Amino acid sequence: MVLIMNDYITVIGGGLAGTEVAYQIAKRGIKVKLYEMKPQKFSPAHNNSNLAEIVCSNSFKSSLHTNACGLLKEELNLLDSLLIKTAYDVSVPAGQALAVDRNKFSESVTKKIDSIENIEVIREEVGKNSKNLSLKEMLENGIVVIATGPLTSDGLSSEIKELTGEEGLHFYDAAAPIIEKDSINMNIAFWGDRYEQERKKDEDIVEWQERISKNKENNYINLPLNKEEYEKFVNELINAEVVELHNFEKREIFEGCMPIEIMAKRGLDTLRFGPLKPVGFTDPRTGKRPYALIQLRQDNKEGNLYNLVGFQTNLKYGEQKRVFSLIPGLENAEFVKYGVMHRNTFINSPELLDNTYNLKKNENAFFAGQITGVEGYVESISSGMVAGINAVNKFLQKDKVIFSKYTMIGALADYISTENKKFQPMNANFGILPQLEEKIKDKKIKYGKLSDRAIEELNKTRILQ
Ligand SMILES: Cc1cc2nc3c(=O)[nH]c(=O)nc-3n(C[C@H](O)[C@H](O)[C@H](O)COP(=O)(O)OP(=O)(O)OC[C@H]3O[C@@H](n4cnc5c(N)ncnc54)[C@H](O)[C@@H]3O)c2cc1C
Repeated sequence: MVLIMNDYITVIGGGLAGTEVAYQIAKRGIKVKLYEMKPQKFSPAHNNSNLAEIVCSNSFKSSLHTNACGLLKEELNLLDSLLIKTAYDVSVPAGQALAVDRNKFSESVTKKIDSIENIEVIREEVGKNSKNLSLKEMLENGIVVIATGPLTSDGLSSEIKELTGEEGLHFYDAAAPIIEKDSINMNIAFWGDRYEQERKKDEDIVEWQERISKNKENNYINLPLNKEEYEKFVNELINAEVVELHNFEKREIFEGCMPIEIMAKRGLDTLRFGPLKPVGFTDPRTGKRPYALIQLRQDNKEGNLYNLVGFQTNLKYGEQKRVFSLIPGLENAEFVKYGVMHRNTFINSPELLDNTYNLKKNENAFFAGQITGVEGYVESISSGMVAGINAVNKFLQKDKVIFSKYTMIGALADYISTENKKFQPMNANFGILPQLEEKIKDKKIKYGKLSDRAIEELNKTRILQ
């Protein structure tokens, strides 16, 4: 049992997650000390003094009930999220999306936070070489929620490393696109691991495929390409539009996580002697080794999401959809997440956190926001909601509030805290919810049902108001 001494909760970072955390704690009658390093110090992406600064796009994505981020906002609204309410108050026309006037948004959140008596905003950096208590000392004195975002200052990053262990903190994400398994054309794709099929030479290939797809004995899905398909794909890939990186994101590229489009530019055969090598495979349709081969690896425990192995990329999202859908077998692929390569500080949450964003090895510590491996504005707010509510319960020595996996807010908390050796940040998407028992082809109907179920589940959650 950890001793709680302070009569307040400390929140570090006054961004999207940290302000939601502070509001959720304060509205439940508990004092908060909220540390924000601006305007004393700015990250490379922040440039105004207000809290809850929007660093890039002013869109909070779709508001539709049949959209995963729309559902997440609906849930947050029901839970009285200060930030989502403010976003609707200062919204600008953007069709079905919720877009905000970015200045009004952060001004309004700042005014609200400053006006709450229970919140003391301290405009100082926390971390090594700052004049404040160290993170370790703060944690010895009470509950601390760390919400310093993808650009956490160096001084605090090194203290977080001490808290979580050397392997606990990552500084870049290099995520490959993730696809819904049901949208892969299994008439083209086949199951198997490299050389495995060759080891079972005596067995008929087709029988072997049927057996492993039934038993899920093997967790790779393989997409064979012939010469013409491969060359067309490489040609489109090297000519596709890429995202312009910020200066602070440019870095030496490690061979192990090179964007696939850069590797492809090294020569026509580079990919098929690298991540697309076909050695050790026989295409069950032809009985021969394919010219090139793309592998998809299971991405979640339920086995309904698969990632494209080696496909970390800086291609624009629309270009990823266009170029990767050219791969035979992926013509109707549903991308639940596109590949990214960002400067992004995040902890190894599956090892470190539980599904309330509480640090397993020091229960006085909570994390919230992008640093937990959720990705996006609304997702960061959502983790702030869960961490804030649970920091209160911890402070009052009450039971944890675990949100149902059937809700988007709970599914995200579950995703980041579930064992995952290749953990990469995740945004809201319907693939992380437990699937419906009935198979529904029409996406709108399916997503509508998943959302209805989520709201019903959320309404059953008991939360201290
Ligand atoms: C360049 C960039 C562009 C992005 N674009 C988008 C986008 O368009 N859409 C989207 O949905 N998501 C985007 N994201 C991802 C993410 O949604 C945002 O970064 C979001 O702001 C994360 O919220 P947060 O609360 O975790 O962090 P932040 O909003 O960054 O808040 C962290 C706060 O902590 C403060 N801080 C840092 N270190 C310390 C310290 N040691 N002591 C005290 N205070 C500290 C910072 O000044 C900041 O105010 C982007 C991320 C980056 C880096």
